[in-house]
Amino acid sequence: MRDAIPGNTFKALNYLDPKIALQIREASTKQEITKAAFFNYKGQKTTVNWSLYAHNFERSIFDNQLLEITKEIENITFFEGQKVLTVKNQNEQVSCILNSGLELTGKILIACDGANSSIKKSLFSATSFREDNSYFAVSRYYEGLEHLVKNQNEVYHVKKYPVGYFWIFPLGKGKANVGFGLLPNRKQPKHVNEAFSDIIENDPIISPLFKNAKPLNRTTGAKLPLGGTKSPMSGERFILCGDAASLVDPISGAGIDTAIWSGIFAAECA
Ligand SMILES: Cc1cc2nc3c(=O)[nH]c(=O)nc-3n(C[C@H](O)[C@H](O)[C@H](O)COP(=O)(O)OP(=O)(O)OC[C@H]3O[C@@H](n4cnc5c(N)ncnc54)[C@H](O)[C@@H]3O)c2cc1C
Repeated sequence: MRDAIPGNTFKALNYLDPKIALQIREASTKQEITKAAFFNYKGQKTTVNWSLYAHNFERSIFDNQLLEITKEIENITFFEGQKVLTVKNQNEQVSCILNSGLELTGKILIACDGANSSIKKSLFSATSFREDNSYFAVSRYYEGLEHLVKNQNEVYHVKKYPVGYFWIFPLGKGKANVGFGLLPNRKQPKHVNEAFSDIIENDPIISPLFKNAKPLNRTTGAKLPLGGTKSPMSGERFILCGDAASLVDPISGAGIDTAIWSGIFAAECA
C-alpha cells in the first residue's frame, strides 16, 4: 500500500533498460500523476507540477510486475518462498544460509531485505550497528472520495500532528490510497494508527472529504528508515540497498526510487 511510484523510479528503470521502463509505464491499471497539491492546516493549497513522468499503481502489482520482468532475464536464479536465515562473512567469502538449508556463497553480498533487515544486523558487529532514524506510516484504501482530481496527489499538513503528513493518492476508478506518517512516539506504540483515525474523523479540513468515503481494507503500516543515518551502508564483501541502507527521502517519504537507484549503483560497484 505504498502506491506513488516517484518519477525518479522511471528514470532509474530507463537507465537500467528503456524496455523495462516502458513495460512498467504501460501498466494498464495505473493512474498517471502530473502534479501534487500541498495543503497547509488552514486548507490553503500550493500546487507543484512534476517535471518527470510518474504514476500511482497498487504496490503489490508493481512489485510483481518487476519480478515477472526480472524472471525473463538470463543468469538470474530465484529462490522463491525462501528466506535468508543467517549470514557468514569470513575467509574472503560471504555466505547466506536459507531456511531450506541451502548455502549460497560468493565474493559479495548485496542486501535489499527492507526496513528490518536481518542481514544488516548480522553483518555489522554489535558495536558498529546503529538503529536508524525512522518514522512510522500507515495507509488504507478508500473509495468514494468525491473531491479527487485524478492526476493529482494530495499532501496535507495537519495542525494537531505537525511532525507528520497525511496523503491521498488517487488510483483511478474512484479508488485512493490514503495514509499518514509520523515520527514515532515510543511511549504510545499505536500513536500513528490512532492519529490516522483521529484525522479522518475530526480534522476540520480533511474529515469533510471523507463524508461519503468507504474504507476497502484494514489499516496497515511499517517503519520508514530515513536517509541521513550514520550507519555505514557497506563493508567488507557487502553493500546494503534501499530501506536496508536507510534511503527513504525524509521530506517526501518516498523510497521506491532510491531503492532502485541504490540497487543499480551497488551492481555497478560489484
Ligand atoms: C505505509 C507506507 C507507505 C509508503 N508509500 C510510499 C510511496 O507512496 N512511494 C514511495 O516511493 N515509497 C513509499 N514508501 C516507502 C517504500 O515502500 C520503501 O522505501 C521501499 O519499498 C523500499 O524498497 P526495498 O526493496 O528496500 O524494501 P522492501 O520493499 O521492503 O523489500 C524488501 C524485500 O526483502 C524481503 N526480505 C526481507 N527479509 C528477508 C530475508 N531474511 N530473506 C529473504 N528476503 C527477505 C521482503 O520479503 C521484501 O520482499 C512507503 C512506506 C510505507 C511503510
